[in-house]
Amino acid sequence: MTPSLAVENARTEAGEIVSLVLNNDRIAAIGLHAAAGIDLAVPRFDAAGGLLCLPFVDGHIHLDKTLIGLPFIPHIPGDTVARRIEAEKSLRRTVALSVEARGGALLEKLAAYGTLSVRSHVDIDTEVGLKGLEAVLSLKQSHGHLVDIQTVAFPQSGVLRNPGTAGLLDAAIAAGADLVGGLDPAGIDNDVTGHLDAIFSVAAKYGVGLDIHLHDGGALGAFELRQIADRTAALGLEGKVVVSHAFCLGELDDAEFGRTAAALARSGVAIMTSAPGAVPMPPVKRLAAAGVRLFCANDNIRDAWSPFGNGDMLERVGILCDRQDFRSDEDLAAAFRLATQAPAEILGRPVEPLQAGSRADFVILPAASLAEAVAARPLDRIVFRGGTIIARGGRLVV
Ligand SMILES: [Zn+2]
Repeated sequence: MTPSLAVENARTEAGEIVSLVLNNDRIAAIGLHAAAGIDLAVPRFDAAGGLLCLPFVDGHIHLDKTLIGLPFIPHIPGDTVARRIEAEKSLRRTVALSVEARGGALLEKLAAYGTLSVRSHVDIDTEVGLKGLEAVLSLKQSHGHLVDIQTVAFPQSGVLRNPGTAGLLDAAIAAGADLVGGLDPAGIDNDVTGHLDAIFSVAAKYGVGLDIHLHDGGALGAFELRQIADRTAALGLEGKVVVSHAFCLGELDDAEFGRTAAALARSGVAIMTSAPGAVPMPPVKRLAAAGVRLFCANDNIRDAWSPFGNGDMLERVGILCDRQDFRSDEDLAAAFRLATQAPAEILGRPVEPLQAGSRADFVILPAASLAEAVAARPLDRIVFRGGTIIARGGRLVV
């Protein structure tokens, strides 16, 4: 078969300069002389020594919440999670643009930055029902050529305090959502056992995983983490459960941290952090040392919860490094992988190393190392999806 494209002068993480020969959506060959003997008629792309990287995975976003695509809407303050939920609902009733339009605009931004796979939580409540989910599922059709999308049925307004929500979560999984969500069993529903019974029973019924937002702090949050770990192991869901935020892990004494991290590691419960400001955050290296899997994600990207965020995972990784005081090349490279390899594995996405036979999904960054890429956060990147350049310099070209 005649190759579709030769990519020359790309730099591996180890610093070697290589060529890639692409056969449509696959890498046919990669190596120092891989492109040497191919037909001169095959189109060539000069990567100019740029760094060859796996594409980014944003394992926690909210496609239905984003206000991207609209003129800037001033942030509505709310000092508790419950007040912000109500503020968001009142905003949601008046937003002029559909979820399809806003979520689609965000997906296009993400793809332009080199994020080719996402997990989106989608609000499920008795007011919106499954409408947001249906809209996000339709984005799989309209935008699946750019980004792979997983969905979580997310009870943003609680489960027990909003009767009828448990049935809607069940209906959401039946309608095509990939995972069951949860939210602060104590802080929102004031009933840890009741909340976890409700969401784990839906997950067990369909054999799907869970991804639970947990903002509850201190010893209470740690207790909830251990409850989640116990239920995960009891139902055989090891490797299929994520707890998002878990701020409490950043404020425990050594004994309680050790007990909680051990429970998470044993049950394969992973942690997502967006490295948020002004709250404690899970300590990345201590958790890794305890065997807990962790990844980094953007979460709210310009929505009712935050006016900030542009969707760029390199920017998010940089924020994480600032918050964890990471400075060495080794730490920066490890942080980079929290936005590529780690979420791909935790989300159950096949991680195809950049080798012959793999899908030709990759990003070329103007940097000599992962550490430089994290430090410089260059926008001037080239994004390949299925063997085709889909974005350059932060803009889609398809
Ligand atoms: Zn979230």
